[in-house]
Amino acid sequence: MTHTATGKLPPNIDHADAAHDLAAENRALRARMAYLLEQAERNHSIMTRHQAFDLEIVGASNFPELVGTIFRVLPVISELDSVTLTLIDEDADIRTVMLKLDVVFEDFPDLIFVETLDELGLDLARRTANAPTPRPLLGMYDRQRHAHTFPNAPVGLQSVAMVPLLRNKRIIGSLNLGSCDPTRFTPSLGTDFIEHMASIIAICLENVISNEMLKYIGLTDSLTGVYNRRYIDRRLLEEIARARRQQYPISFMYIDIDHFKRVNDTVGHGGGDEVLREVAARIKNELRTSDALARFGGEEFVVLLIDANLESAAFVAERIRASVAGSMITLSPELQLSVTVSIGVACLEVGMAEGDPEVIARNLIERADGLLYDAKENGRNRVISYRAE
Ligand code: GH3
Ligand code: MG
Ligand code: MG
Repeated sequence: MTHTATGKLPPNIDHADAAHDLAAENRALRARMAYLLEQAERNHSIMTRHQAFDLEIVGASNFPELVGTIFRVLPVISELDSVTLTLIDEDADIRTVMLKLDVVFEDFPDLIFVETLDELGLDLARRTANAPTPRPLLGMYDRQRHAHTFPNAPVGLQSVAMVPLLRNKRIIGSLNLGSCDPTRFTPSLGTDFIEHMASIIAICLENVISNEMLKYIGLTDSLTGVYNRRYIDRRLLEEIARARRQQYPISFMYIDIDHFKRVNDTVGHGGGDEVLREVAARIKNELRTSDALARFGGEEFVVLLIDANLESAAFVAERIRASVAGSMITLSPELQLSVTVSIGVACLEVGMAEGDPEVIARNLIERADGLLYDAKENGRNRVISYRAE
């Protein structure tokens, strides 16, 4: 049956046929409308989910929260079978700072660090003078080629997209998406959407990383790289609360370099700084990762030992004393010198952490400081500790 160009029915068609025809057309149109509506609703729901995701990552206040959200939410809203993130971390600065801020990298097995741009596997040679910005790389999954980008690839992974993360035209890493559907990421697919998503992720990553760096700078001593007083003051309050809940002792050491004025007089202020760095390194070497070392100012250091009673803390203090006194510090091939430290050790035994944490903290520091004074009075290069009353 044919319709004329004007849409009028030919004269030989009877009315019943025409009505039937219209009803069929109507049904087809309705079906098409329903399909379009469904598509619109689906797109709307994808957009809403992505908007919620964007808001969530923009609101992430620290690095673990951000990467945790990306790994948890993105596979769900984008219906992906694998999401990994590669970051360029040339001198391991990001990792060093995050570790210092107690980020547990084992929590993020799909977070990958590489040293150089080439290791991203983005095939950057594809860039041309006309299109200098690196484009996403889409195609079939290749177990060997993508081993580094998808270290925990799920069984049946078929197609992947590796999307450069760009900040001010600089590549900071790549967002890697994987699907078990071989047609999901084909080289001909439009990439506007994933590029947009990657740009938001890149901004958020850069923000949290620089915030964490600032936090790190605010909590560490620039000369020695160990924590500063602000960090210990805060950490001590947290640890006192935790020790109270979990019923374990914490100990506190106050360490002061003996006759440091003489060191400065002998080797100059720069030499003195070098000695401070070496002493900090020797102290750190004797500690567990759960212990916190800080420079309290000048040539004074403190150590907070978690779940350590007075005996074990005094034992560690003695090891520190021996390590500093045990060998000369070399400032240059011609210039070596010996230094010693005096240490006061105090312990907050189980059951003693009741009351105002601020008062308890101050009291613990004062006791260790008092014992350090005794160590100085008793000839220096010694450890003094006593069981708390
Ligand atoms: P004592 O055995 O009684 O502790 O003697 P001391 O000479 O170490 O005593 P004091 O605490 O009075 O001297 C500390 C010196 O540390 C004084 C100061 O010039 C020096 N100092 C403080 N901060 C720094 C620093 O950042 N670098 C260097 N090189 N010296 C510092
Ligand atoms: Mg001093
Ligand atoms: Mg001193």
